[in-house]
Amino acid sequence: MKVTLRKVTKTPLDFEVKSNEITFKGYLEYHLGKLILLKANLSGFLTKDCDICAEEFKLPVDEDVEFFICDGIYENGNDIELDVVEVLNDTVDMEELLNSEIELIKSDYHSCENCK
Ligand SMILES: [Zn+2]
Repeated sequence: MKVTLRKVTKTPLDFEVKSNEITFKGYLEYHLGKLILLKANLSGFLTKDCDICAEEFKLPVDEDVEFFICDGIYENGNDIELDVVEVLNDTVDMEELLNSEIELIKSDYHSCENCK
């Protein structure tokens, strides 16, 4: 699912994409300047290797995410630190976003039931 940022308005635009057993569901809303707000929830299961015993296990996921998407380079004009993902050509690929969120979760430390 690809979204043209230019078409995102103050009216929340709902989206839902899936990758294996993860559902990424939420909305996009125009914020200001070149920024689009994304609010969503990631839920389901991830298959991951345990960081202790290296056995594969299923990690339950239920995470709320919130960040901004910027068309082009984000120039921070003030002191507020924002979580911004920069995209090119006015287009955001929701599957790509989901995959990078999944990689983020996977890169955290997780151990299986047996090692807890
Ligand atoms: Zn383990």
